[in-house]
Amino acid sequence: MHAQIAGDAREAGLREATREFVERHAIPREDPALAHDVAALDAVTRELRDLARRAGIYAPQLPRELGGLGLDWRQRAGVLEEAGRSFLGAPALNCAPPDQPNMINLLQQGTPAQQARYLMPLVRGEIRSCFAMTEPAPGAGSDPSMLRTVAERAGGGWVLNGHKWFISGAVGAAFAIVLAQTAHGPTLFVVDTAQPGYRLVRNIGSMDGYQVGGHGEIVLEQCAVGADAVLGEIGQGFAYAQARLEPARLSHCMRFIGRASRAMEIAQHHAAQRESFGQRLSELQQVQAMVADAHIDLHACRLMVRDCAQRLDAGLPVKHESAMVKVFVSEAVWRVADRAVQIMGALGVSDDTPVSMIQRELRPFRIYDGASELHRATLARRIFSQQLRP
Ligand SMILES: Cc1cc2nc3c(=O)[nH]c(=O)nc-3n(C[C@H](O)[C@H](O)[C@H](O)COP(=O)(O)OP(=O)(O)OC[C@H]3O[C@@H](n4cnc5c(N)ncnc54)[C@H](O)[C@@H]3O)c2cc1C
Repeated sequence: MHAQIAGDAREAGLREATREFVERHAIPREDPALAHDVAALDAVTRELRDLARRAGIYAPQLPRELGGLGLDWRQRAGVLEEAGRSFLGAPALNCAPPDQPNMINLLQQGTPAQQARYLMPLVRGEIRSCFAMTEPAPGAGSDPSMLRTVAERAGGGWVLNGHKWFISGAVGAAFAIVLAQTAHGPTLFVVDTAQPGYRLVRNIGSMDGYQVGGHGEIVLEQCAVGADAVLGEIGQGFAYAQARLEPARLSHCMRFIGRASRAMEIAQHHAAQRESFGQRLSELQQVQAMVADAHIDLHACRLMVRDCAQRLDAGLPVKHESAMVKVFVSEAVWRVADRAVQIMGALGVSDDTPVSMIQRELRPFRIYDGASELHRATLARRIFSQQLRP
């Protein structure tokens, strides 16, 4: 009981410190000119990480032994939500994808040598990384069994050939965790991006912004790596990719609840000032309904996330629940941001406030980490096969 109270007090303090950090340091550094400028984003992130360390809020998701805050999932929810209010918050705290889930893979599957070489510099924020699974057609997208990147044994090591795209963080990444097919099944490889045969083709232009390292297209041509590049066991690549996705999705939900709630805060402030036909927007029933619906959506999002977090903390399986949370939250935060745009009129679609970028950033969340349709299909299959009661 005492431990619970102490944990809650610590979480409340960290949440408050994160909110203050975001207001004081992250939001003032946001700039639409930064949104697609990978080099400038890197520079700002480095600067913010130093400040986050000094504020005692760096790496909330990492164990204390690694220099993190050692928060459990439930405690993390509030801190990641506060960090997520700014585009720059999660990178500043080094709890943004793809580095965050890559740290999970390296922690769980990495050898001591891989952890020393890749995990520790990642934890310290000295390098960045990416996770390369998706391929352009006819390769793997929603259906991972369409994987075409191959790794073949050569000498004592492996040679990789393949084509990946939409790989977040790829520009400037020091290493990539690459999913490739081997004779013994799909396998994860840690590949140095400086390795001959690894080529970044381009940074793909996209509707979202502020992705540190952009979204890269990568080609692997006769890319030779050592036997020590295998991450975990050969043939377990899908299982490891799946295992990282559940917590990664939940963390995304936490951060994006913060982002959507900020969009609505801005819209509410606008509605309280702006007049139309002799009334403030906040006095118009249809505007009031949009605001109320946004609060209902956000409340439901927070409760669903918290429930899933508690299950993770209790060591319970969350396959079913995390899929439901991901579908609901990705669609609800989009609705919230969309209402914020609507309430603000032309100002809402301009770059004069962060609201339009928040909405653009939230749209792809219904596609990555499993498209909504894919999750619904899987949920329905499980519901019918296990005769789950509603
Ligand atoms: C912003 C962003 C960042 C990303 N970052 C990464 C990254 O870092 N690393 C990485 O490997 N990948 C990344 N991706 C890729 C992402 O994982 C894929 O986009 C996703 O898996 C879907 O694959 P796809 O785009 O090929 O779409 P497809 O597989 O071609 O699917 C297209 C659409 O078809 C429908 N669909 C597909 N399958 C089904 C089904 N079974 N039932 C019903 N409908 C279905 C869905 O509506 C889906 O949106 C990123 C994508 C985006 C947009």
